[in-house]
Amino acid sequence: PFEAIEKTEDEDVVDLSAYKDIWVFAEQRDGKLMNVALELIGEGKRLAKEISDETKLCAVVVGDGVAHLADECYAYGADEVILIQDPLLKNYTTDGYAKVITDAINEFKPEIVLYGATHIGRDLAPRIAARCNTGLTADCTRLDVRVSSYIEYAKKNTTLDTSTLDPNDPSTGIKQTRPAFGGNLMATIICPKTRPQMSTVRPGVMQKREPVEGAKGELVEYKPTIAASDIRTEIVEIVKSTKELVSLTDAEIICSGGRGLGNEDGFKLIKEFADKVGGVVGASRAAVDAGWIDHSHQVGQTGTTVKPKIYFACGISGAIQHLAGMQTSDFIVAINKDADAPIFEVADFGIVGDLYKIVPLIIEMWDDA
Ligand code: FAD
Repeated sequence: PFEAIEKTEDEDVVDLSAYKDIWVFAEQRDGKLMNVALELIGEGKRLAKEISDETKLCAVVVGDGVAHLADECYAYGADEVILIQDPLLKNYTTDGYAKVITDAINEFKPEIVLYGATHIGRDLAPRIAARCNTGLTADCTRLDVRVSSYIEYAKKNTTLDTSTLDPNDPSTGIKQTRPAFGGNLMATIICPKTRPQMSTVRPGVMQKREPVEGAKGELVEYKPTIAASDIRTEIVEIVKSTKELVSLTDAEIICSGGRGLGNEDGFKLIKEFADKVGGVVGASRAAVDAGWIDHSHQVGQTGTTVKPKIYFACGISGAIQHLAGMQTSDFIVAINKDADAPIFEVADFGIVGDLYKIVPLIIEMWDDA
C-alpha cells in the first residue's frame, strides 16, 4: 500500500496534523442561505461524525448583517458558525471573499473545506485553493471518508512495524468523486499531501438533515482585515434576472421532455402536465439545443442535478449525461416508444408507447389517482 503514494524529496512537507474540522462555505444571497449550503452542512456533519467525535462541522457565514443566519446553520447540523462580517462584504466580490476566507483558513486550519458548485462557489473556491497552495476537486457528486493506506494496512497486519509508516499519509481525509470524461466514468480524487482538502459539490446531490429547531452551537466572530483597495471590482448595479425562475433543485415533481417531443409545441403538453401534477418542467439537452426551451430547464451533467420525489421522463432516451443529473430521484417514470431505451434501466415504472397518447391520459386520470 505504501508505494501508491508518490513523494519527492524536495517537496514542501505540510504538517497535516495541524489541520482539523470541516468547514462549509454557507453561501447566502440577500441574507438567505442557499439550499446547497444546508445540504453541505448535512453532508459535512455526516463526514465529521465518521472521522471522529472531536471533529466539528463549522459553517462559514460571510457578508454584512448576516448574524441571523447562525441559528439556521445550527438547526441543520453546524456545531460552530464562523461569522465574517464587514460592510465591504455586503455583496459578493471575488477579491473580498477570497481574501477574508483565505485569512481565516490560515488562522484556523480546517482539514476540509466544502463549497456549493454555484456560480459563486465555482468562482471562489479555485482562488482560495491557489492562495492556500492546495488542490480542489470541482463538481463532486459524492464524498467519503478516506482512511490512510497505512491504517488500512495496520488493520490487516497486527505485527506492523510503525517505523515504516509514511508520516505524510494522513490518517483521515476525504475521497472525492466526480464525473469525468463527459460523464463516462466516475473519478475518485484524493488530496494526500496538502491541506485543506477542498471540493465544490453540485447542488441537489447531498441530503439536507431534518432541522432541529432551537439547536445551539458555538459562534466565533472572526474580524476580517479588509480595505476597499483589496477589492479590484466595483458593483455598479445588481440586475435581477427577469427570466421565469426555474426551481428544479427544490422541485418535488419534475416533468421532463426530450427530443421525442418532436417540436417546440411539445413543451406546451409538458407544461400542462407539470401544472396538473404540481411539478416543474425539465428538459434534456437535445431539447434545449434544438431551441425548444431555455437552458435553465436542462437536467443533467451540464444542466441541473435534481432529486425530486417523482421524475417523469417523456421522450428521453436516457443518455449517461442525462442520467447523471436525475438518477438519484426517488421514483422515476419513463415514457418512451422504444422498449429498449436505456432510460428504462433506471426507471421504477416504465410505459412503452407514444407520449402524445400517454401524457394526456395521465393528465386526465391524475385527479382520480
Ligand atoms: P434522444 O437521445 O434523441 O432520445 C429521444 C427519445 O425519444 C428516444 O428514446 C425515442 O425513442 C423517444 N421518442 C421519440 N418519439 C417519441 C414519442 N412520440 N413518444 C415517446 N417517446 C418518443 N444531455 C442531457 O439531457 N443533459 C445534459 O446535461 C447533457 N450534458 C452533456 C454533456 C456532454 C459533455 C455531452 C457530450 C452530452 C451531454 N448531453 C446531455 C447529451 C446527451 O448525450 C444526449 O444527447 C441527450 O441527453 C439526448 O436527449 P434526448 O434523450 O432528449 O434525445
